[in-house]
Amino acid sequence: MRINFETEHLIIRPLVPEDAEAAFRWCGDPNVNTYMIYPLYTRVEDVRAWLESRDPDDPDNYDEGIVLKSTGELIGSGGMCWHPERNAWEIGYNLRADQWGHGYTGEYLTALMERIRKVRPVEAIDGVFAAENHKSRRVMEKLGMVWVRDTQYDKLDGSRTYPAKYFRRNLSQPADLCLICGRIEKIMQGTNPYFVKELETGYVVLGDHQYFEGYTLLLCKEHATELSQLTPDFRSAFLRDMAVTAEAVENAFRPDKLNYELLGTGTGRHMHWHIFPRRSGDTPAPGPVWQVREMNDDRYLPSAEKLEELKASLKKELDRLVP
Ligand SMILES: [Zn+2]
Repeated sequence: MRINFETEHLIIRPLVPEDAEAAFRWCGDPNVNTYMIYPLYTRVEDVRAWLESRDPDDPDNYDEGIVLKSTGELIGSGGMCWHPERNAWEIGYNLRADQWGHGYTGEYLTALMERIRKVRPVEAIDGVFAAENHKSRRVMEKLGMVWVRDTQYDKLDGSRTYPAKYFRRNLSQPADLCLICGRIEKIMQGTNPYFVKELETGYVVLGDHQYFEGYTLLLCKEHATELSQLTPDFRSAFLRDMAVTAEAVENAFRPDKLNYELLGTGTGRHMHWHIFPRRSGDTPAPGPVWQVREMNDDRYLPSAEKLEELKASLKKELDRLVP
């Protein structure tokens, strides 16, 4: 995508074929190339061919030129590319070796992320870097990204395989883009009437509709779609918090059985646990709750007194389990 803007030290602008000579200073530098997937360039013509082959208008790819304000020189390129399968924007960059260590990459990518967010959602940023590449680790940490899992990648020519780290940051969304982030924002402001208790990884709330009396949700603090998008520690704690919430629901409402569902449909796809207390005969046929089409009818909205009573019962049990 063609984009132009300035940061404190940098001018960001689209790359053009005429940048070949300047770009060759990093594309042809073995130091810069070490951890890149593309092979080392040995001729300026090949860099020009690459620049000519790019689609500068690809709306899912912000891959721009980085110009140093103080000298007017093009010193690198990079940006963010949308990966729908991970619901994330992957960061990537190359910077001329003599310009390393000034924080320019972080300065650029932070500003770029804010720019993209003005025109479309950025629900997460992620990136993969070679485990031994400590400079890239620092860039990702500065962007607020955290380690999620180990992985590996190959150079395009197959000459090397690198053990690598997958880093990610999930970003909270405005209420109009994510219903769950909107509900969490209301909890923070003290204006969510369904809020019961904050746990380490999420917020326990009563369901809006109480056809299944005691219906409870646990909203994940991370705006994430899948468990695989959480750090291992957070994921374990989130599963534990779900189990604790379910136990409190069980103790408070004494159902015949609980149903546990991790859903994330609708706007934002922000995962949240549904805990349904089930009782004999509560559905027309044995099976999941969703066959009860009227469960979200307004007549199952609890009165203010009933809501307080349900919340108090659940809060008492949660406080006992998580003092
Ligand atoms: Zn969200």
